[in-house]
Amino acid sequence: MIKHTIKQDPAEPKFIKIISEISTLGSNRILMQLPAWRPGRYELGNFAKNLKRFEVFDALQHPISYKKVSKDCWEIETNGIASFHIQYYYYAQQADAGACFVAEDMIFLNPVHCFMYVSDRINEAHVLNFEVPANWEIASQLPLEGKTLQAKDFDTLADSPIFVSPNLKHHSFKVQQTRFHFWFLGADFPLLQNLEEDTKKYAKWQTDLYGELPCENFHFMYLLLPNAFRHGVEHMDSTVIAMGPINNLDTKEMYNDLLAISSHELFHLWNVKRIRPVELLPYDFTRENYSRLGYIYEGITTYYGDLALWQSGVWSWEQYCESLSGDLSKHLSNEGRHYYSVAESSFDTWLDGYVPGVPGRKVSIYTEGLVAAFIADIMVLEASNGSKRLHHVMNILYERTWKQGKGYTQELYRNILEEVSGISFEKYFSELIEGKGFLEISLIDSLEKIGLTLEKQLDEAGIAAWRIKKYVHPTNLQSQLFDFWRESH
Ligand SMILES: [Zn+2]
Repeated sequence: MIKHTIKQDPAEPKFIKIISEISTLGSNRILMQLPAWRPGRYELGNFAKNLKRFEVFDALQHPISYKKVSKDCWEIETNGIASFHIQYYYYAQQADAGACFVAEDMIFLNPVHCFMYVSDRINEAHVLNFEVPANWEIASQLPLEGKTLQAKDFDTLADSPIFVSPNLKHHSFKVQQTRFHFWFLGADFPLLQNLEEDTKKYAKWQTDLYGELPCENFHFMYLLLPNAFRHGVEHMDSTVIAMGPINNLDTKEMYNDLLAISSHELFHLWNVKRIRPVELLPYDFTRENYSRLGYIYEGITTYYGDLALWQSGVWSWEQYCESLSGDLSKHLSNEGRHYYSVAESSFDTWLDGYVPGVPGRKVSIYTEGLVAAFIADIMVLEASNGSKRLHHVMNILYERTWKQGKGYTQELYRNILEEVSGISFEKYFSELIEGKGFLEISLIDSLEKIGLTLEKQLDEAGIAAWRIKKYVHPTNLQSQLFDFWRESH
């Protein structure tokens, strides 16, 4: 077991101080590894660049020599000693949902950034002890006792964001058998009652798709910021959502934005945290974990996040339509759609997946993944005459992978699509997923099947946007398929 002590040092207010005690278990040489990236953002973060004043001591406080063997791995000489501790300062000034931030009255950690593990002992347990004043509260998906959190292995620790502050606001309620917790850090939330009611609706709707909500507690950890911001990160039994500016939290626009991101992150509870590609199971924190399946773990999540809000009655058709039109406009105005496949865009998140990138170079696992998910949904819907949907495929994928302790491959996903729909998905994969330039025509075709069309408009600056419109006189078949699409279960 590794014991970590976490404290603030008034002399270094922008850093968090970490002291980790490690047993050698008789080994003469220990490799201490810091992750190079974090799940949810599939690019290298190289967190070691935030670390300074690294030191190693034995039990009598004598310094021990060490050397770095890679950019984020330290080799410690432990000849003849039973235990040692390392200590360092980690720069914590990145106030987004997936990083670390400290201020006078708060500590926000994503442990994947700042804690180390022994490189061949990743399954070892970790204990975190926070040296903070008695009135500071701790919020996390990890089991808590006093000021101490326990993680059964490094994977669990890495996946568990932590809020520590005297100013945490907490609210909880139940959805079926699961207790949901809201934690607010940074400000009070002005529309708490609305948020509880709307969360209950979309959470129940998502739970019904999968038949169960596989955790006893789920924590929505809201980091409310003074600046304009919108970011969320998924975890097994929690999510961190960073939103701002605080002054606009009660506006309709920002409230709907917060709902959209929250619904998306909750859907990840199943899709990617539990239903996971084989290449991400387990995560290798030391290097790139390439996957061509981002259109499943982000695309389907993006599609269902908003769909859940509409179909559970939180959003009107007009609200959903506006959001979907915005996503489709992104696709239709991106020149990169002609030259790049959505599978390639997944592989290349490790290259430039989270920046706009060179104009016209690439597509996105979020936007083009959503388009691919919508087309697959309409294909399944039409082929089964409304009796099946894409989420039936996801439900079976959940049963056959997570429940069996396995990951999935594109082949398994395709097999289940074909099994559920009874039709071939060969062209779907060769053209829409692996091919280039086919999504647009297939999208227009799928919209038409349910009596929808796209209308191009130019704004005052001459920038094109597309709006979804319903046919004025749809055929009976189009109306029927639209109704099947609207009534999901
Ligand atoms: Zn996501």
